[in-house]
Amino acid sequence: MNKESDKFILITVDLEDWFQVENLRKQFPRSSWNTNLIRVEHPTRALLTLFDKHNIKATFFVLGWLAERVPELVNLVHSHGHEIASHGYGHELCHNLSKDELLKDLERGKEVLEGIIRGTVKGYRAPSFSINENLVSLLSQTGFVYDSSYNDFSGNKRYGALKGDWVEIRPGVLQNRSEKLFEIPIRNINLLGRSIPWGGGGYFRLIPKGFFSLGVRYILKKNGVFVFYCHPWEFDPDQPRVDGLRIDYRFRHYINLRNNLLKLDSFLDRFSEYNFVTCSELLPEY
Ligand SMILES: [Zn+2]
Repeated sequence: MNKESDKFILITVDLEDWFQVENLRKQFPRSSWNTNLIRVEHPTRALLTLFDKHNIKATFFVLGWLAERVPELVNLVHSHGHEIASHGYGHELCHNLSKDELLKDLERGKEVLEGIIRGTVKGYRAPSFSINENLVSLLSQTGFVYDSSYNDFSGNKRYGALKGDWVEIRPGVLQNRSEKLFEIPIRNINLLGRSIPWGGGGYFRLIPKGFFSLGVRYILKKNGVFVFYCHPWEFDPDQPRVDGLRIDYRFRHYINLRNNLLKLDSFLDRFSEYNFVTCSELLPEY
């Protein structure tokens, strides 16, 4: 089969555990993390098996706190040929940290991962896509080459904005020349001046698969690149159910976990004629 040679799909995984999700923060403050059962290994292994089956290399944005507790899992992901990038250390939203605190979180997260894989970590994704100006000004200073934290869906208050001097230098890649940084944004459906969230996560679980695929084909036709994101806990249907969640958080967190792996399997089948690349592979020479 001929590949759609000028179209690219990036599969990205934010590697964090079930209790580190922002919607569960009230129930699981950072101080409680050490008391929770780490469940990330099983769903991550399931994803590795799935990606091997489809011969896909993905990008894993790994949380430093978790990496310290499961270094062998990080190495396993790396040994399967996937790119290891950073999701920060403590999963704090960028706008909740001072510039100094953010710098420390970036440095610590990167250091932990580089110590484990004994290689360079080039990419970063902010928790809840909370990119802000402080982050952009700090990333290249801390040795990151690219960021993938911009999501133009405006309906989520945690998501940040992309300010400053950005130029699209190739489909799916923006560059900030003054900061020497690349940005690989999440691509949504932009229709009539509105952005409809279509990058993955809960939206992938919620939207019927045929309809989701239609939207992805639309994004690919328009932009040439589709960036998909997911989390291992979205493939862990037996994770503990948390009491006292806001009803919308409960819905978003637990909807359609049971069949999600099969759904992703079917999605990857449908798009097998496209090029699947890691974030670093999409970047131009720099
Ligand atoms: Zn996250």
